[in-house]
Amino acid sequence: MAHLISSTHLLQTARQNGYGVTAFNVHTLEMLQAVVEAAEELQAPLILQTTVGTVKHLGPDYIVAAAAAAAKRSSVPIALHLDHCTDYELIVQCIREGYTSVMIDASMHPFEENVRQTQEVVKVARAAGVNVEAELGKVGGVEDDIVVADEDALLADPDECVRFVELTGVPTLAPAIGTAHGIYKGEPKIAFGKLEEIYRKVSLPLVLHGGSGIPEEQVKRCVSLGMAKMNVATELRIAFSDAIKKVFQANPDENDPRKYMVPAKAAVKELAQAKMRLTGCVGRAKDFI
Ligand SMILES: [Zn+2]
Repeated sequence: MAHLISSTHLLQTARQNGYGVTAFNVHTLEMLQAVVEAAEELQAPLILQTTVGTVKHLGPDYIVAAAAAAAKRSSVPIALHLDHCTDYELIVQCIREGYTSVMIDASMHPFEENVRQTQEVVKVARAAGVNVEAELGKVGGVEDDIVVADEDALLADPDECVRFVELTGVPTLAPAIGTAHGIYKGEPKIAFGKLEEIYRKVSLPLVLHGGSGIPEEQVKRCVSLGMAKMNVATELRIAFSDAIKKVFQANPDENDPRKYMVPAKAAVKELAQAKMRLTGCVGRAKDFI
């Protein structure tokens, strides 16, 4: 595709065609390469994403350079997204560096303040041709420095979703519907009734957060109800780390990073492909030629 693209069109196309694009949180070059190879093999559109912590850890310029190199080599469309950012300045910096999608997470504020902050980001992102995602309600669990206790998690209200979209002009919306970040203790309690109402009232692509460990049938149902992007973070990290642990268990003296990165990469790739099959984006790169 030559260069990174905005995810707005990517996700609109996914919603129109009833599939979901998988968005993977990557933390190392090998994780990035693994999900790109997974997408290339299955001809799936792809969203690479990083948390604020990873942006600070690696530097946005390094991340953009690696993602841009992947896009240059790849025949599938790839977007680079900044996940859960609460900091306007960092959003602007990432847009300047070359991110093609950003999330402003002001969901911890009252509705009016969430609207105000989202409006500001939409303004700057639109001028740069960059996608914006915003959140309504509160997704539970832990994502970097954002911690939401179970009792504070809040479902998005369908009518508020309508008003929010009208007031902000945001192109993609992440409504909290009962999923959580991290690994679920039991089964997630997804509020399908609410999601269905949001699906009917809001025609934008919706985003499913907390995609690690949601039972397959529930993921499929979410996708059929407008969830055009599914975020996968925790499960990918576990696959990557477990593969490395296994190498060190067998050979505690291993000191060649390639020896443990190769199996770690393979584990990430395999998981990424399973998620792509689940959300139905396999073979969908053809929608963007
Ligand atoms: Zn999230």
